[in-house]
Amino acid sequence: MSLDDPRTIRLADYQPYSHLVERVELTFRLHPTATRVRAALHMAANPAARAGQDLRLDGEGLRLISCAIDGRAVQPILDATGLTLAVGVLPAQPFVLETEVEIAPEGNTALEGLYMSKGMYCTQCEAEGFRKITYYPDRPDVMARFHVRIESDLPVLLSNGNPVGQGAGWAEWDDPWPKPSYLFALVAGDLRAHPGDFTTMEGRAVSLNIWVRPGDEGRCAWGMEALKASMAWDERVYGRAYDLDVFNIVAVDDFNMGAMENKGLNIFNSKAVLASPETATDDDFARVEAIIAHEYFHNWTGNRITCRDWFQLCLKEGLTVFRDQQFSGDLRSHAVKRIEDVLMLRARQFREDGGPLAHPVRPDSFVEINNFYTATVYEKGAEVIGMLKRLVGDADYARALDLYFDRHDGQAATIEDWLKVFEDTTGRELSQFKRWYTEAGTPRLSVTEDWADGVFTLTFGQVNPPTPGQPQKAAKVIPVAVGLLNPNGDEVVPTMVLEVTEERQSFAFKGLATRPVASILRGFSAPVLLERVVPAAERAFLLAHDTDPFNRWEAGRSLAKEVLARMILDGAAPSADLLDGLRRIAFDEGLDPAFRALALRLPGEDDMAATLHAAGHVPDPARIYAARRALHLALAEHLGPRLPALEEACRVPGAFSPDAAAAGKRALRLASLSLLARLDGGAAARAAYRAADNMTESFGSLAILLDIGAGESELADFAAKWQQDRLVLEKWFAVQVSAAAPDKVADVVRKLTQRADFDWKNPNRFRAVIGALSGNHAGFHHASGEGYALLADWLITLDPKNPQTAARMSTAFESWPRYDADRQAMMRGALQRIMAAPGLSRDLSEMAGRMLG
Ligand code: ZN
Repeated sequence: MSLDDPRTIRLADYQPYSHLVERVELTFRLHPTATRVRAALHMAANPAARAGQDLRLDGEGLRLISCAIDGRAVQPILDATGLTLAVGVLPAQPFVLETEVEIAPEGNTALEGLYMSKGMYCTQCEAEGFRKITYYPDRPDVMARFHVRIESDLPVLLSNGNPVGQGAGWAEWDDPWPKPSYLFALVAGDLRAHPGDFTTMEGRAVSLNIWVRPGDEGRCAWGMEALKASMAWDERVYGRAYDLDVFNIVAVDDFNMGAMENKGLNIFNSKAVLASPETATDDDFARVEAIIAHEYFHNWTGNRITCRDWFQLCLKEGLTVFRDQQFSGDLRSHAVKRIEDVLMLRARQFREDGGPLAHPVRPDSFVEINNFYTATVYEKGAEVIGMLKRLVGDADYARALDLYFDRHDGQAATIEDWLKVFEDTTGRELSQFKRWYTEAGTPRLSVTEDWADGVFTLTFGQVNPPTPGQPQKAAKVIPVAVGLLNPNGDEVVPTMVLEVTEERQSFAFKGLATRPVASILRGFSAPVLLERVVPAAERAFLLAHDTDPFNRWEAGRSLAKEVLARMILDGAAPSADLLDGLRRIAFDEGLDPAFRALALRLPGEDDMAATLHAAGHVPDPARIYAARRALHLALAEHLGPRLPALEEACRVPGAFSPDAAAAGKRALRLASLSLLARLDGGAAARAAYRAADNMTESFGSLAILLDIGAGESELADFAAKWQQDRLVLEKWFAVQVSAAAPDKVADVVRKLTQRADFDWKNPNRFRAVIGALSGNHAGFHHASGEGYALLADWLITLDPKNPQTAARMSTAFESWPRYDADRQAMMRGALQRIMAAPGLSRDLSEMAGRMLG
């Protein structure tokens, strides 16, 4: 990982900061081009650090107006990344360092630090944005109490903690909880509140608000319900109560990510919090609920206990993702949630882990930390916690978490601290388990089975593939949940966890009357690639009978992948096993409609490309595209006559409700409409579009029509209706690109990007079009190379304005090693062209450099 880049920062070099910051007083006089920030830092030497050090503060793009220690002006040494005060000028006793700087939020297009979005001021400080606001030790292990005064004529002035005073043109906030600077936030604007309240189990009355721009008030109710549900859930399940008198959420249109957990003042991408039945799909509703929960849960896992340094990012992110997944499962369906999470994990994290950007859940070096807010840190980080919980059991997991909160509250902790808590609680030695944190790559787990004399034996083999900078790896501990079924589908051995700790290891099951069918890796108990040769008939059996819902779905999925692979590689016909099995699931009214809809979703093209590559083939995007469509058509024909009845049975009567049951029915309805569209030319989907009273069904049927090459008038109707709605218009932009035929994508993108409303400096709009381009597998990888060239052009254009988003979107190129020599050359050529762009950001140059290897 960029080991020879001179800008590399290493975990091994960690040193405690020279000073403690006991208290910070900040005063902001807001102005678009000349905001003044005064800071008073109450400091003392850190007894845990080497004595006699200079005082170093981070600062970027600041104009220093004044600097004083205990009221006496001092002259610091300034450079491009901060200021230094020589140890000689520092008092021996605690002192107050005062600075005043000027910054220009209006010109801040990187959306990091203090910036403006449609007339409102807002901040994003994680990871290292605070240094663009004032001079400060901008690192998470420096925790201080913040008092903030904001001066501005704007009506709503917000910061962290509790409000302690306000008047005409000013407001003051005080946060009693020590925090690192990355959790600082400030918002000022003409905002409207959607209010709510919550009383904690400790009896604290908390006033809640979701702040939005005028006009968006009607889209806050769902987020507010989700917030209250999250607060109650964290009390009930983790025993954690909220700890301030107010909790504010603000919706911002220009935001680089989903949302941010600033103490008491969460800031959200408006896309991740606003929702109404007319404008948001069921998936949007579910995502809003999950992100609200995620940010709220950070109050304990992230804020009360934070990270010692950015290498420990997974300490808060993996755990908080794990918690939000538990929450969504509890509120909705654990089976469906697990399937969705695994789909995501495989699509994003396995892809990352198997390519040039692979890195450990806890990286040991980086150039730009913003490049490590990855699927590996977040999603694999959550998987690692799920494995730990499975290994120690639910009761010990709960005891360990209590100890974690008890022992580390108020601290900046490490993965070592986290694992020690589990070791102390359970007496288990976790050094082998720790490899999940320190080693990259997805383990490949093979299984063979043997049946002799009434003994059934499973033999596992694990291979831990090399990844950049990590050529060799030892065996990991892999919890493999297994159940055994007898041939009539009854469970003879209920789910148990086998601990695979060796490179090769066998487990014997005795006393069985007949040879069982094994259901292996139930619930996807470990993030591994399971390699197992299973006859199609056995997969079909598991698809029909597995008592573990995840593995039941997985059986269909594996079968579909095998069938698709044969269609792609040797032009085989779709197998009856698969079609019959899926038909049985589709019409099985005893099953959750959401589950049935997931079973009908065919493996994606990128997934197939990865699968073929892993099996030693060179994937051909055009053939994958064609085969997948052929399979979809074959499935439609196989289910044919019964589809209209299914579609009708899934209509949800009455007023729209975003609950999981209704959403599941709509998902199954759309799945049947999509199949039906291959048979009726889109007639049913067109009718559904016209009749729809909610965004799920109107957008869903529009996407189905576009996918079969129809829907032109619906597309125009949709545009006319939603012209003024930025969030809905995002969907209109994106769907045209995702649904475009492979040889049309580049034209569609060019046309869309020429529109006046393609505001590419807005990350949501940029992602809607350019993100959809790389998401259209056959289009992006079109043999002409146009997809690659277009993406490179746009990344080069965006980088000077917004390096963070440009770098993030460059990961579309990470899959280059999978493809044929021509495509490899074109993708690498695009990356080289990016590398050669003058003034390339640290963010994008690190990414392109790592991908080129
Ligand atoms: Zn998070």
